[in-house]
Amino acid sequence: MTLFKERGVVLRSYRLGEADRIVVFLTESHGKVRAVAKGVRRTTSKFGARLEPMSHVLMLLWAGRGDLDIVKQVEIVDHFPVLRGDLGRLTRGLSLIEVAEQMAQERHSDPRLYSMLVGALRVLDDTTRDPAMVAPSFFLKALVLDGAEPVLDGCASCGLSGDHVKLVAFSLPDGGALCSNCRRGRPLSAPALELMRRILGGTLGNVLSGPAPVGTEEVTLLTTEAVESHLERRLRSVRSATGI
Ligand SMILES: [Zn+2]
Repeated sequence: MTLFKERGVVLRSYRLGEADRIVVFLTESHGKVRAVAKGVRRTTSKFGARLEPMSHVLMLLWAGRGDLDIVKQVEIVDHFPVLRGDLGRLTRGLSLIEVAEQMAQERHSDPRLYSMLVGALRVLDDTTRDPAMVAPSFFLKALVLDGAEPVLDGCASCGLSGDHVKLVAFSLPDGGALCSNCRRGRPLSAPALELMRRILGGTLGNVLSGPAPVGTEEVTLLTTEAVESHLERRLRSVRSATGI
């Protein structure tokens, strides 16, 4: 057995026997890790409350020989009290960890997904920031990380691009934005297309710093459906977070 330090976000946990839980983390260096937290369901447990979903923690883990590590110590890095105290922010946070859990692979390092998740949860925890664009931006960037970047600079089907080509529809299974000849999937407005380009074009900080931009609702719907089609499952927490 080896002891190692690791940072991670709690994705979820489930009961194991009388007093223990298995906790699933998205870690900085080892991807998705499952570990046993012994005795956490006892009221005297020191670290049970630190292992709630979405908590960002620094841990000491024993690496076992099987699939499960053992949590030895836990320190809170971010507990996200603002996020937890606001239902709208909380449900959005839960949608992020649902998508992160689906995309992360066990023991497969993905530091970009980890830092994206921590960054998005920190924005949701900041009362000075509007939470509306956090989940759609996360979904879009997660699709790119997973090799499913939608085409937004031309028609994903016929390849036409340039100022004279109007992109009027969006369908991730068809590759992204579509021209009027190839239209399938959902209608796409010019502000929504522009907003998605801004998210992926390096001005995400700008998108998240002001009030919810024009096209927010439409991009929320399009990115939710896109991530669902990519993962081949419906996201319950996303649907309850956004009301779509
Ligand atoms: Zn086309």
